[in-house]
Amino acid sequence: MTNLEDIKSLLQEKLAAMIERSEDIDDDLTEPADDDWGEAAVEAAGDEVLEEVGDVTLEEIAQIKQALARIENGGYGLCMSCGEDIGAERLKVLPYATKCMSCAE
Ligand SMILES: [Zn+2]
Repeated sequence: MTNLEDIKSLLQEKLAAMIERSEDIDDDLTEPADDDWGEAAVEAAGDEVLEEVGDVTLEEIAQIKQALARIENGGYGLCMSCGEDIGAERLKVLPYATKCMSCAE
């Protein structure tokens, strides 16, 4: 198992990057729509995609925060559903995974 302190700083870095990204998305979303109808429609479609990306980002931010809390309080690396080991391989790919492979699906 990797050093928890390493995982913690990795997660904190990722969290900061995600927060920055979600702020960028917010900036894009609050830009005034274009007067031209065609442009406005294209921009509205773009905003929908951005909102979806924003949702995913917010979800990931929540997961990362949860993982950080679990590093502090213990329980990191254990599935929140079944309590089994999430597994080093999965955590390597998804350090903030809160569920094991079978519970996440
Ligand atoms: Zn599980």
